[in-house]
Amino acid sequence: MSICLSFFLKFVNINYLIINNFNNSSNMAALTEDSYGGYDYTFVNGDPSSNYICHICTLVSCDPHQVSCCYNIFCKTCLETQIKQGININCPMCREPMGTNSYFKDGRLEREIKSLKIYCTRYDKEGCQWEGIIGDFIREHVHTCSYQLIECTRGCGAKMLRTDVEAHLSEVCPKRMVSCEYCRRKGPHNLITGTAHLNECSLYPLKCRYEGCDVTKQRMFLPAHEKVCSKAVISCEYSSVGCVKVIKREDQEKHNEEFMKDHLQMAVKRVDSLQMRCSIISISEVFRLTDFVSKRCCNEIWRSPPFYSSPGGYKMILSVYANGRDSAKGTHISCYASLVPGEYDDTLEWPFQGKVKVTLLNQTENANHKTVFITYNSFTPEECKFLTEAKMSEEWGVSHFVPHCDLCPLYDRRNCLYFKVDVIAISETKPWLAGLD
Ligand SMILES: [Zn+2]
Ligand SMILES: [Zn+2]
Ligand SMILES: [Zn+2]
Ligand SMILES: [Zn+2]
Ligand SMILES: [Zn+2]
Ligand SMILES: [Zn+2]
Ligand SMILES: [Zn+2]
Repeated sequence: MSICLSFFLKFVNINYLIINNFNNSSNMAALTEDSYGGYDYTFVNGDPSSNYICHICTLVSCDPHQVSCCYNIFCKTCLETQIKQGININCPMCREPMGTNSYFKDGRLEREIKSLKIYCTRYDKEGCQWEGIIGDFIREHVHTCSYQLIECTRGCGAKMLRTDVEAHLSEVCPKRMVSCEYCRRKGPHNLITGTAHLNECSLYPLKCRYEGCDVTKQRMFLPAHEKVCSKAVISCEYSSVGCVKVIKREDQEKHNEEFMKDHLQMAVKRVDSLQMRCSIISISEVFRLTDFVSKRCCNEIWRSPPFYSSPGGYKMILSVYANGRDSAKGTHISCYASLVPGEYDDTLEWPFQGKVKVTLLNQTENANHKTVFITYNSFTPEECKFLTEAKMSEEWGVSHFVPHCDLCPLYDRRNCLYFKVDVIAISETKPWLAGLD
């Protein structure tokens, strides 16, 4: 193409050039149907006649067409590309306006061009010794020449000599189909042998994670091994009764021998505490609070009749502050429990421990009752857990039990509220309270 560029620039308005598109046109590209530009070959008999040169791409014209304005020659694709890019384009040479009908195929020139002798595009240092006319090269040689570079048909992007295509497709191409060597799943090589598959392949061999264990298992069978692996680090099998030792599974037997006494003591203690720490649940009591509105208006305290936490248990009463107590005054119902002297006090365990469950009943259906637990534990003041000299313990309970605004007719019917009380007493030394003796 060197021959005519300078000659060509003298005549052509540079604005019409798209030279860059053609300079790198490969031989392969020149042969494919949707490429454009002329033949960029090395000619056996030196530079061809300037009559063959396309005035757009400056190469020997491919499918030469003559324009009817000034009879100059262009590749068909060069002309059509220019016309496609700009409507009402002018002739690159004479600048006459041009349209699709102002050029025609020059068959005689094409025959002459196809008879020009060239070297194979992979001639000499690329290895091929072929030389012949353009027509033969296009029709036959380029499709059989072993030295042509071919793009991978699987689309991996690699280019290789025609002679290497087979080996590439079967052994090298990252997109070739293979089976996983472990699970036999089929897929493209890059996916099957990549970490994405190997990190989930169910038959991929993995080493047991426990130190000192040499076992290798297929991924899906590893969890089963780890459950029995003698090197696994586990909690002593007596952890449920309180042994905190962490040992290798294989050392469990030795540990059991050494710690037999300790394990036994722990087990005995455990059984004891299970027996001693029993909960005694009462029979429920239900109380009716009447005249709610006037009790609320007068800040009146309502107290239930005394009841026992269970037969033979603690005697208690429930106190309800209709208009609230302390910080809940005027906004909530407050409820409190207190211990009163009972028949069985001498046999009971003191201080009182447990929970008093107070429920404000929904009077229309068995749902959405309002419940609160009054808990007696180490945080409860002593004077609330023991009977006092004034014959009744201090009250212990919940000031913000139910907001007045929640007291819809479900809970407050005919000016009455119903309270259900259950007591769960805990005893560590008097199991008979739970009927355990
Ligand atoms: Zn012209
Ligand atoms: Zn051209
Ligand atoms: Zn060749
Ligand atoms: Zn490939
Ligand atoms: Zn696999
Ligand atoms: Zn193991
Ligand atoms: Zn142990």
